[in-house]
Amino acid sequence: MSDSCCGTTAIEIEQFTTTQQASALPVVVIGAGPVGLAAAAHLAERGIDFTLLEAGDRVAASVAQWGHVRVFSPWKYNVDAAARRLLEADGWMAPDADWLPTGAELIDDYLAPLAKLFGGKIRFGAKVSAISRLGYDRVRTAGREQAPFLIRLDDGTELQARAIIDASGTYTSPNVLGASGLPAHGEGEVFVDHTLPDVLGADRDRFEGKRVLVVGAGHSAATTLLALAELDDTPITWAIRAGNATRAYGGGDADALPARGALGTRLRAHVESGRIRLLTGFFTHRINATGQGVEVVSRDPSGHEQSVTVDRIVSATGYRPDHSIAAELRLDLDPVLGSTRTLAPLIDPNQHSCGTVPAHGADELAHPEPGYYAVGVKSYGRAPTFLMATGYEQVRSVVAALAGDWQAARDVQLDLPETGVCSSNLAEAQEQRVGLATGISGGLLSASLPLATVSAAESGGCCG
Ligand SMILES: Cc1cc2nc3c(=O)[nH]c(=O)nc-3n(C[C@H](O)[C@H](O)[C@H](O)COP(=O)(O)OP(=O)(O)OC[C@H]3O[C@@H](n4cnc5c(N)ncnc54)[C@H](O)[C@@H]3O)c2cc1C
Repeated sequence: MSDSCCGTTAIEIEQFTTTQQASALPVVVIGAGPVGLAAAAHLAERGIDFTLLEAGDRVAASVAQWGHVRVFSPWKYNVDAAARRLLEADGWMAPDADWLPTGAELIDDYLAPLAKLFGGKIRFGAKVSAISRLGYDRVRTAGREQAPFLIRLDDGTELQARAIIDASGTYTSPNVLGASGLPAHGEGEVFVDHTLPDVLGADRDRFEGKRVLVVGAGHSAATTLLALAELDDTPITWAIRAGNATRAYGGGDADALPARGALGTRLRAHVESGRIRLLTGFFTHRINATGQGVEVVSRDPSGHEQSVTVDRIVSATGYRPDHSIAAELRLDLDPVLGSTRTLAPLIDPNQHSCGTVPAHGADELAHPEPGYYAVGVKSYGRAPTFLMATGYEQVRSVVAALAGDWQAARDVQLDLPETGVCSSNLAEAQEQRVGLATGISGGLLSASLPLATVSAAESGGCCG
């Protein structure tokens, strides 16, 4: 029998998996970043079998990419409660609650010891390339909810799951340089650094003495620009779409967050002194490798062109979620942000800073495809308001829902004082305790990343 009345006959799929068999399968968690590992901790606490698939060959492969960056939320907000309980039972000593760790410290002092507790349940080098329902494409309905999920890895291996917690992040899908959201012509043919290279550390040799273009108006761009300004003989160009850099400079002395104002003030001083050349109204359109370097051409909506030739390009244009692995699932995505539609108004960067996003969980993260949840920074789509602490509450709720404990799933709570979770003042206090930090810090990150209202288009992220 076929599901279709006309056209090719569909292959009849036997109802070979009963509900009971499907529920005996493990939950699959995708991504061993902070939120995927927190999901694993909650699953372990509830005694639910799971497999954690990580594309990288190590824990938190994406965090490792920005290991030199000091985060702006202190340890007390960066450790998941279930993870803490499991770790402490294993003799772990929690780091100083008020300390702001670097990405590398986050891994070494927390995520790696946590992952160790899960042993063989974590599979490294396991990149998920597609997810579906066994025997069901997106169109077929009858019996769908009873069918197990089918997960295909990029080596062709397949496994089945009773539910999927997708914590694969957005770090591996950065926004393009092209000003209209499409890649600029030739963009794929040149090497582009994506946000926050370790300019004063491991990547110094690649930047010092080179002509560098930084594209983007957010705080990641500002941070990179200030780091570059410390290098000798390194001509810096900063390109933004806006007609002026007022928003990027922030409020200066009048800024609600003094250190954020200081970041902007320092940036403005470099622009005014000529140390950084600012190109406004820059709509990246075409990139050509030439004998003299890489020519980056802007064409604004009126057709006016301007160009700059450089040796290195840093794209600080943010991230977007990649939902392609779930293309055969039934997703209900907000057309603007790419989060669920229920979540979108709660995280809208026009309304919220990272500290004012309300607690949310399984209900807000649910798609029409029961049993599939995108969590963590991926759940926010293009909204730059994500915090680990919010992700931890998400997975606590989602795992409770998977356990059938809807009371706990719906009792969502967050304790994120708006000015205490992602605060530059803490960074300053920390620097007073230990002196200038290493890596990209060096005083640069004593200035804040945004807390207050910023537009999605112009923001470099709440804490990124
Ligand atoms: C520079 C920077 C600073 C930040 N600072 C803060 C801060 O101060 N405070 C705060 O709360 N938040 C901060 N954030 C935001 C956020 O908390 C982090 O991005 C956090 O790492 C998100 O965790 P995650 O687990 O959702 O995703 P990620 O950490 O991105 O982890 C996703 C994991 O999934 C893996 N993966 C990806 N695709 C696949 C696939 N197809 N199959 C299998 N595995 C896959 C990746 O390798 C990665 O290990 C910051 C972000 C950045 C970039």
